[in-house]
Amino acid sequence: MLTKLRMWLKRFERRRRGKCEFCGQPLILSRIDTSGSDENISIHFQGLPCLSCGDPMHPKRYATQEFGSNLMDTLYFAGESKFPASRIKGLGDSQHCYSCGKGITGSARRGQVSGVVIVTGTLEFSLKIAGPIVTCEFCRSEQLYNTKDVSFHTNEAIVEAFKQISLKPC
Ligand SMILES: [Zn+2]
Ligand SMILES: [Zn+2]
Repeated sequence: MLTKLRMWLKRFERRRRGKCEFCGQPLILSRIDTSGSDENISIHFQGLPCLSCGDPMHPKRYATQEFGSNLMDTLYFAGESKFPASRIKGLGDSQHCYSCGKGITGSARRGQVSGVVIVTGTLEFSLKIAGPIVTCEFCRSEQLYNTKDVSFHTNEAIVEAFKQISLKPC
């Protein structure tokens, strides 16, 4: 019982000091590739920034405190984000082009989009998503047809990709 508590305290103390809770090595900003999928969505991160001790089997930490929520904002909401995914505007599920802002009228087909993602406070990385893709009839930009259902499964695929490399919040 006491040894368990000691071990837990040791891990807690290491984490507090920005060290790997398993080996005690310092966690440094690293870039890792990982993939995940859920239902009809698959996602691939290339050069995902995270904190790692260098041992691929040990847990990683988010590059910044807010990495998880900032990533979602960047993908779906942030006005300046250029990741090719349609945006939901207003109530309901009305889709608008990420590039020109006009309403999406076409229908989705199976395909793949990729783009560079810039999350506040850390390194940029690239992201590929395979799933329902639509082309904007006004500016011809291809993008993920990002309905509520699609963004739900995209989030699950992201969780899966993070699990693959034991990536956890700070
Ligand atoms: Zn380690
Ligand atoms: Zn457009």
